[in-house]
Amino acid sequence: MTAIQLTGVEKIYKGRVHALRGVDLTVHPGEVFGLLGPNGAGKSTLVKILMTVIRPTKCRGSVLGKPVGDRPTLARIGYLPEHHRFPPYLKGRQVLEFFAAMSGVARKDRQRRSAELLELVGMSDWSEKKIGGYSKGMRQRIGIAQSLMNNPDLVLLDEPTDGVDPVGRREIRQILAHLKEEGRAVFLNSHLLSEIEMVCDRVAIMVQGKVLRQGTIGELTQGVGGYSISTTTELTAEHHEVIRTAAGERETVYESTRVVIQTNDPGHIQTAIDALRAKGVVLSSVAPVRVSLEDLFMQTVEADESHGRPGAAQNRKGDRR
Ligand code: ADP
Repeated sequence: MTAIQLTGVEKIYKGRVHALRGVDLTVHPGEVFGLLGPNGAGKSTLVKILMTVIRPTKCRGSVLGKPVGDRPTLARIGYLPEHHRFPPYLKGRQVLEFFAAMSGVARKDRQRRSAELLELVGMSDWSEKKIGGYSKGMRQRIGIAQSLMNNPDLVLLDEPTDGVDPVGRREIRQILAHLKEEGRAVFLNSHLLSEIEMVCDRVAIMVQGKVLRQGTIGELTQGVGGYSISTTTELTAEHHEVIRTAAGERETVYESTRVVIQTNDPGHIQTAIDALRAKGVVLSSVAPVRVSLEDLFMQTVEADESHGRPGAAQNRKGDRR
């Protein structure tokens, strides 16, 4: 059974804002899945559809084996909404006990369960302090703790590390790794590439309401790299010419003691190596290079923008985060 399986999800807000334009997406059980996209891409809209907060215009798919929109399934899902607000006058412990009550945890178990979760997210020492005095990272940790109250099989986290400092982000990553170890599927939204790269098993890149790429980071970044040839001496214009002839049509990037030839076939770089050696150049290394997730993301966004869909620009929020 897949954790999430979606086909052709569409959402048109108020009959005019086309926020989702046919999203296909699969999340496997026990994996950390990252949905990456610029602000306004439609990430929160998708999560809200999964949580039945808003209704899709069109949707085929399942969550934990049940059709999207099935309310009883929510009991098996944890949710951290974007920009959540807890009452500032409540203490961390009180917030969790409140969520325990809402999640149907028996009265006698609420204190124990809340204490366990505070421990898990490293907030035990702050449990008797008011939320109003917490940092953003602390509030997010309480938010993650409440999302786990119902012991969910699937956790949906909308921008869990947004506005959190580097130390807090690292702690949140450790919590996510722990959730995965416990066998839960984690689905997170983020516009922070580095976060996604560090924690996710698989990734989808969403741009203007469509998932343009999906797979493991390895899958997404392979096949678009090249080979780097490093030399001990500086490369001259003459060497560049030799490489250009050997590399043919392939795109080539020159640096003073390095050249990168874009190809996935090591056979293609042999002529360049031979030609350089024939010129007396000493090579210090030859290594494959992969495109980074950031490069891939930028290429995906730019390629989509260059299609210049009319009305696409107005369908985007300001950069408010
Ligand atoms: P993301 O989470 O990727 O930043 P959202 O899902 O919040 O993106 O938004 C996707 C698009 O839908 C944006 O253009 C946004 O302005 C629009 N949108 C979101 N919520 C509403 C709403 N309630 N009514 C109308 N448009 C909305």
